Amino acid sequence: MDCLFCRIIAGEIPADVVHTDDRSVAFRDINPQAPTHILVIPREHIESLDEATQRDESTLGHLLRVAARLANQEGLSESGYRTVINTGAGAGQSVFHLHLHVLGGRQMNWPPG
Ligand code: 5GP
Ligand code: ZN
Repeated sequence: MDCLFCRIIAGEIPADVVHTDDRSVAFRDINPQAPTHILVIPREHIESLDEATQRDESTLGHLLRVAARLANQEGLSESGYRTVINTGAGAGQSVFHLHLHVLGGRQMNWPPG
Protein backbone atom coordinates (compact mmCIF):
# COMPACT_ATOMS: atom_id res chain seq x y z
CA MET A 1 0.00 0.00 0.00
CA ASP A 2 1.85 3.08 -1.17
CA CYS A 3 -0.97 5.58 -0.70
CA LEU A 4 -0.20 8.07 2.07
CA PHE A 5 -3.84 8.61 3.02
CA CYS A 6 -4.62 4.86 3.00
CA ARG A 7 -1.72 4.52 5.42
CA ILE A 8 -3.16 7.26 7.65
CA ILE A 9 -6.52 5.42 7.61
CA ALA A 10 -4.72 2.20 8.57
CA GLY A 11 -3.01 4.00 11.47
CA GLU A 12 0.44 3.38 10.00
CA ILE A 13 1.17 7.10 9.79
CA PRO A 14 0.09 9.31 12.69
CA ALA A 15 -2.36 12.13 12.07
CA ASP A 16 -4.41 14.54 14.16
CA VAL A 17 -7.70 12.76 13.51
CA VAL A 18 -10.80 14.82 14.25
CA HIS A 19 -13.51 12.48 12.94
CA THR A 20 -13.99 8.88 11.89
CA ASP A 21 -17.03 6.93 10.77
CA ASP A 22 -17.71 3.88 8.64
CA ARG A 23 -17.16 5.74 5.38
CA SER A 24 -14.83 8.65 6.14
CA VAL A 25 -11.89 9.89 8.17
CA ALA A 26 -10.95 13.53 8.81
CA PHE A 27 -7.67 14.91 10.13
CA ARG A 28 -5.79 18.18 10.31
CA ASP A 29 -3.59 19.12 7.38
CA ILE A 30 0.12 18.86 8.24
CA ASN A 31 0.79 22.15 6.42
CA PRO A 32 -2.26 24.28 7.26
CA GLN A 33 -3.17 27.10 4.90
CA ALA A 34 -5.65 28.65 7.34
CA PRO A 35 -6.25 28.54 11.13
CA THR A 36 -8.60 25.61 10.47
CA HIS A 37 -7.47 23.27 7.71
CA ILE A 38 -9.00 19.79 7.81
CA LEU A 39 -8.92 17.06 5.19
CA VAL A 40 -11.97 14.80 4.85
CA ILE A 41 -11.31 11.57 2.97
CA PRO A 42 -13.26 8.45 2.04
CA ARG A 43 -12.07 5.20 3.65
CA GLU A 44 -12.25 3.68 0.20
CA HIS A 45 -9.32 4.56 -2.05
CA ILE A 46 -10.64 6.77 -4.86
CA GLU A 47 -7.81 8.43 -6.73
CA SER A 48 -9.54 11.70 -7.54
CA LEU A 49 -12.94 13.22 -8.19
CA ASP A 50 -12.34 12.39 -11.83
CA GLU A 51 -12.23 8.68 -10.93
CA ALA A 52 -15.43 8.74 -8.88
CA THR A 53 -18.34 6.77 -10.31
CA GLN A 54 -22.06 6.62 -9.76
CA ARG A 55 -21.58 4.13 -6.95
CA ASP A 56 -19.50 6.75 -5.09
CA GLU A 57 -22.30 9.33 -5.14
CA SER A 58 -23.54 8.75 -1.61
CA THR A 59 -19.96 8.73 -0.27
CA LEU A 60 -19.26 12.05 -1.99
CA GLY A 61 -22.38 13.52 -0.42
CA HIS A 62 -21.35 12.12 2.94
CA LEU A 63 -17.92 13.79 2.73
CA LEU A 64 -19.59 17.16 2.18
CA ARG A 65 -21.90 16.68 5.14
CA VAL A 66 -18.99 15.65 7.38
CA ALA A 67 -17.11 18.76 6.18
CA ALA A 68 -20.02 20.99 7.17
CA ARG A 69 -20.38 19.33 10.56
CA LEU A 70 -16.67 19.73 11.30
CA ALA A 71 -16.70 23.36 10.15
CA ASN A 72 -19.60 23.94 12.52
CA GLN A 73 -17.67 22.26 15.36
CA GLU A 74 -14.70 24.52 14.59
CA GLY A 75 -17.00 27.54 15.02
CA LEU A 76 -16.88 28.52 11.36
CA SER A 77 -20.57 28.50 10.50
CA GLU A 78 -20.94 32.25 11.03
CA SER A 79 -17.60 33.47 9.67
CA GLY A 80 -17.72 31.10 6.72
CA TYR A 81 -15.44 28.42 5.41
CA ARG A 82 -14.28 27.01 2.12
CA THR A 83 -14.44 23.43 0.86
CA VAL A 84 -12.01 22.56 -1.93
CA ILE A 85 -11.27 19.44 -3.98
CA ASN A 86 -8.15 19.73 -6.14
CA THR A 87 -8.41 17.33 -9.07
CA GLY A 88 -5.26 16.52 -11.02
CA ALA A 89 -1.72 17.83 -10.66
CA GLY A 90 -2.57 20.90 -12.76
CA ALA A 91 -5.14 21.93 -10.16
CA GLY A 92 -2.77 21.34 -7.25
CA GLN A 93 -3.61 17.76 -6.31
CA SER A 94 -0.51 16.24 -4.71
CA VAL A 95 -1.99 13.22 -2.89
CA PHE A 96 -3.92 10.88 -5.17
CA HIS A 97 -6.53 9.72 -2.70
CA LEU A 98 -9.61 11.91 -3.00
CA HIS A 99 -9.81 14.50 -0.22
CA LEU A 100 -11.89 17.49 0.59
CA HIS A 101 -10.13 20.48 2.17
CA VAL A 102 -12.05 22.46 4.80
CA LEU A 103 -10.46 25.87 5.30
CA GLY A 104 -11.52 28.69 7.58
CA GLY A 105 -10.66 31.07 10.38
CA ARG A 106 -9.33 33.77 8.09
CA GLN A 107 -10.66 35.86 5.21
CA MET A 108 -10.78 33.62 2.14
CA ASN A 109 -10.05 35.34 -1.17
CA TRP A 110 -11.53 34.79 -4.60
CA PRO A 111 -10.44 33.76 -7.17
CA PRO A 112 -8.20 31.14 -5.55
CA GLY A 113 -4.63 30.92 -6.90
P1 5GP B 1 -3.69 18.36 -2.36
O1 5GP B 1 -2.48 19.23 -2.67
O2 5GP B 1 -3.51 16.98 -2.93
O3 5GP B 1 -5.01 18.98 -2.69
O4 5GP B 1 -3.71 18.23 -0.78
C1 5GP B 1 -2.89 17.34 -0.09
C2 5GP B 1 -2.76 17.89 1.30
O5 5GP B 1 -2.25 16.87 2.13
C3 5GP B 1 -1.81 19.09 1.41
O6 5GP B 1 -2.52 20.21 1.91
C4 5GP B 1 -0.74 18.59 2.37
O7 5GP B 1 -0.30 19.60 3.26
C5 5GP B 1 -1.43 17.45 3.10
N1 5GP B 1 -0.54 16.41 3.54
C6 5GP B 1 0.49 15.85 2.84
N2 5GP B 1 1.09 14.89 3.57
C7 5GP B 1 0.44 14.85 4.77
C8 5GP B 1 0.61 14.05 5.95
O8 5GP B 1 1.48 13.18 6.05
N3 5GP B 1 -0.25 14.30 6.98
C9 5GP B 1 -1.22 15.25 6.90
N4 5GP B 1 -2.00 15.42 7.97
N5 5GP B 1 -1.42 16.01 5.80
C10 5GP B 1 -0.58 15.82 4.75
ZN1 ZN C 1 -5.53 5.74 -0.71
